[in-house]
Amino acid sequence: MPELPEVEVTRRSFADRIAGARIASVTLGKPLRWPLGCAPDDLVGRRVLGVRRRGKYLLLDLDEGLLLLHLGMSGSLTFAPAGVPAGTHDHFDLLTNQGLLRLHDPRRFGAVVHAASEADPVARKLLGHLGLEPLGDTFQVDAFHAGLKQRRSAIKQVLLAGDVVVGVGNIYASEALFLAGIRPTTRADRISLPRARLLHTAIRDVLGRAVEKGGSTLRDFSNAQGESGYFQLEAAVYGRAGLPCRRCETPVRLLKQGQRSTFFCPVCQRP
Ligand SMILES: [Zn+2]
Repeated sequence: MPELPEVEVTRRSFADRIAGARIASVTLGKPLRWPLGCAPDDLVGRRVLGVRRRGKYLLLDLDEGLLLLHLGMSGSLTFAPAGVPAGTHDHFDLLTNQGLLRLHDPRRFGAVVHAASEADPVARKLLGHLGLEPLGDTFQVDAFHAGLKQRRSAIKQVLLAGDVVVGVGNIYASEALFLAGIRPTTRADRISLPRARLLHTAIRDVLGRAVEKGGSTLRDFSNAQGESGYFQLEAAVYGRAGLPCRRCETPVRLLKQGQRSTFFCPVCQRP
């Protein structure tokens, strides 16, 4: 599944090139997760102002309204010169005078949804519940800590839920908690402000490094544990059960939280 860094790298790969483009035609393939929400022809003649990202959604701002794109489980976007006919798994083609934006999505859990504005109920339904943006200016320590205070679940679960901070997937959560020295099972509301500060820094560090890595290696990536969409980070704990902790040499432990693998060092990560 594409993770936040991959979506951000995708955005950077075409945002500048599509800005200012005029839409010439829109072609839909098989149905995606949600309907487009307007007639494809309604988009013809609209101009693309730019591309933003919110969580794992890409927001294509038009001179009237916007398109929300999600890559789902297996989607990928390309922006290239027009000419290659759509294949079996290409389900959305946005042809512009500057190139063709194409959504390739074999499993069709992705979506392209039109909304009149971000205040439109359609957009609010998709974006409204999202937590803080980890790479943005709104991700401040105080707001993050206040969010954690509201939650009594294990910190790892709270990170994965995405309603306090978005985009911290399974691998990134394990790695960030190691960097911050926090046991994944620690209750979120019991994390002190100084520890929340460490975790805040760690999340930005892990995701920021993944975006940097991804910039040079944009392609489908699956790791040994079968978790796809993660750019290859040099993992400190993830996937290293039984191997010595890189900091203290205690064997790294593995536990299951909500059916997801969690890796941690019992010495470096305090409850
Ligand atoms: Zn350790």
